[in-house]
Amino acid sequence: MASIAFYYPLDEERVAADAWSRERGIDVDCYNFDLLDSTVETAKGHKAVCYRQRVPISADGSLYDRLAEYGVGHIGLRSAGLDTVDIRRAHALGMKVTNVPSYSPPAVAELVLTHVMTLVRQLNLFADRAAHNDYIVSGLMSPELSELTIGIIGVGRIGSQVARIFHALGATVIGNDIHENHEFDDILTFVSKDELFARADVVTMHTWLDEHTRHLINADTLRRMKPTAYLVNASRGPVVDTDALIDALDAGVIRGAALDVVEGEATLYNKTYDGRIPDLRYQHLQDMPNVIISPHVGFFTDIAVHNMVFEALDDAWTIIQGGTSPHEIHFDE
Ligand code: NAD
Repeated sequence: MASIAFYYPLDEERVAADAWSRERGIDVDCYNFDLLDSTVETAKGHKAVCYRQRVPISADGSLYDRLAEYGVGHIGLRSAGLDTVDIRRAHALGMKVTNVPSYSPPAVAELVLTHVMTLVRQLNLFADRAAHNDYIVSGLMSPELSELTIGIIGVGRIGSQVARIFHALGATVIGNDIHENHEFDDILTFVSKDELFARADVVTMHTWLDEHTRHLINADTLRRMKPTAYLVNASRGPVVDTDALIDALDAGVIRGAALDVVEGEATLYNKTYDGRIPDLRYQHLQDMPNVIISPHVGFFTDIAVHNMVFEALDDAWTIIQGGTSPHEIHFDE
């Protein structure tokens, strides 16, 4: 029977893949490494490959020829982002590509809520004092959400869920998007980026990554924020210019930041280190008490992981059998 090659699962993804395999009666072969030029041979004998990784699957494109040669007809990403696959090349060789565009917007939005509340209630600063046996509370009084304006850049699936949460909790919510969706008019007010930077107490990033959003948060935009503002990024690392953010935090241009994603994270996360981290900028951010870092875990909830694994494998099986999936990526996407 045709089977699916499933690359580098987290333990929790592997449990979900095994459950899918049992439920559907279809073999899934798990490999504990990324799908790359150097590992592509493991795709032999499979009709589909399925992966979630932060580096492109091929450096020179030859991997696609090898997949086609092996009879692989489907490349299934277990993520929303498409930056790791050359869709045109895959299509030219007759392979279909799918992603999982919406495995759980609440998973990311609830992490953003957690980060915002930690920043606003200054729990990281209380923890820093406590680590030095200092339990003085003076100087760390917080505002309440009803006093705050939350500014959302990118009001799509996740950004709109963030808006829903903060609107329900009594905050004023403003948003900016290149395509304003007025279905959300009851939970937020669309404003220009200039107005958002000037008014928001929290600026939270939820755009995709492209040439317009790369370093959208830079020295200039940071300077346009309130000195009391917090920045949250749970979108893609390069949306924020890390050097500019570090300078702004060092100089007190903004008050603090929470980062679920950072530039260069692909080489950092899912590893342990003895002593210092081999990335000075990341270490600098981690050492700041007014910065919270989480290792790209916005997606990491039981519902999201189940959905990303089941939807990706269901798509693979549908396509192997000659069917079509609503998640197929076409050239103009
Ligand atoms: P989406 O496509 O539904 O929404 C993105 C929104 O950004 C769209 O409404 C788009 O019009 C808007 N946008 C694009 N460029 C813009 C610009 N220059 N200015 C203003 N708005 C702009 O995407 P989504 O599913 O909501 O995902 C949002 C981001 O979250 C993506 O970067 C995605 O990769 C990331 N993400 C992170 C995690 C995590 O674990 N941290 C998990 C899933 C998704």
